Amino acid sequence: MDFNLTKEQQDIQRAAREFALGEFPERAQEFDRDETFDLDIWRKACELGFVGVFIDEAHEGAGLGFFEHCLIVEEFWAVDAGIANAIITASFGAEMLGMFATEEQKNKYLSPIPKGEAIMGTAITEPDAGSDVTCATTSAVRDGDEYIINGTKMFTTNGSIANYLLVFCQTDPDNPDRHQRHSFFIVETDRAGYEANKIHGKLGIRANDTAEVSLVNVRVPASNLVGQEGKGFKNLMDFFNVTRLHICAMAVGIARAALEESVAHIKKRHQFGVPLASFQINQFKIAEMATKIRAARNLYYEAAWLADKGKIDHGLVAMAKWFSGEMAVRCADEALQMHGGYGYIDEYKVQRIYRDAKIVEIYEGTKEIEKIIVANSILG
Ligand SMILES: Cc1cc2nc3c(=O)[nH]c(=O)nc-3n(C[C@H](O)[C@H](O)[C@H](O)COP(=O)(O)OP(=O)(O)OC[C@H]3O[C@@H](n4cnc5c(N)ncnc54)[C@H](O)[C@@H]3O)c2cc1C
Repeated sequence: MDFNLTKEQQDIQRAAREFALGEFPERAQEFDRDETFDLDIWRKACELGFVGVFIDEAHEGAGLGFFEHCLIVEEFWAVDAGIANAIITASFGAEMLGMFATEEQKNKYLSPIPKGEAIMGTAITEPDAGSDVTCATTSAVRDGDEYIINGTKMFTTNGSIANYLLVFCQTDPDNPDRHQRHSFFIVETDRAGYEANKIHGKLGIRANDTAEVSLVNVRVPASNLVGQEGKGFKNLMDFFNVTRLHICAMAVGIARAALEESVAHIKKRHQFGVPLASFQINQFKIAEMATKIRAARNLYYEAAWLADKGKIDHGLVAMAKWFSGEMAVRCADEALQMHGGYGYIDEYKVQRIYRDAKIVEIYEGTKEIEKIIVANSILG
């Protein structure tokens, strides 16, 4: 593996950082405080080609890899996680459409995403089905040329603003193999019976919409089934193997922000007549943060590089996800500690970093679940 980014990759990275620095800082605190977002920022990001770069050119994407998408995610998260996620998650599910949708479905649902004509999301989690997704009971029952969907989805990113969602439904509840009971459907959010209630009071990434979604007798055409019926769980695992790479990039991005804030603060603030940076304990914290960021980045670079070559290493992806998540939370904690009492108030960016960072240890597989995957990949 060549550790040098190509000229194109460097250009993407630089452009993403410039865009984020130009657009995010001024509004970040407002969106975090008010739990809102200005969709014009997402529209601009689409116009500049930052959304869904992994989507093929035939469907309006840039035809680049998951690696290049990670580069953008990392730069965005290094500036502000909430705004970054509001933009990045607009394509959450496009990875699955790219892998399993029919040509007709791709033209209708994938092509609008990079153009900024639609926002999507993926609804798997339910009130009683989190880490164990096979417990999901939202049902899809065939009725002629349609399926009727009933159930409740929890923590659905973009649930109250998306144009459509990929919804994980039970289609064969009696199948003795719990991994063959589910299927994915595209559900347009303007269908009768769809209702979303925005969740308020999140710890972090508050600019990004999260909702509880209720589906009551929602009818979708049978042509909205994505992939084969009964293959939903398997397709979900393939999907997570690439979307978890994006979470690693988020983790590395926010850890970088924690490091940047810390360096600036400890060089500026004096105690006992000297800058905080002159205390060895703080120097060690900086050294550890920088080293762990690099290690986490190398893990996800390798996993993403392999994924773009069609060689998914699910054990490596899981290693990268838990390691980068834990690393980001630890860096955010140390960064706040180095700010002392100032870090505890929202005037300082480090407070938001501390709150935003925690999500990377939770969504798309908690760190505990990732460790189980790593262990299974070794122990068999
Ligand atoms: C802001 C936000 C956005 C989200 N976006 C989406 C989205 O767009 N779509 C979606 O479908 N979901 C989404 N989620 C849900 C997220 O993926 C779940 O919260 C996550 O998978 C964990 O599930 P849970 O919350 O039910 O926790 P649980 O599964 O109840 O887990 C609770 C704790 O128990 C641990 N645990 C569980 N099982 C085991 C085990 N076997 N061994 C050891 N420990 C275990 C977990 O690691 C965790 O620490 C989002 C969540 C949040 C907070």
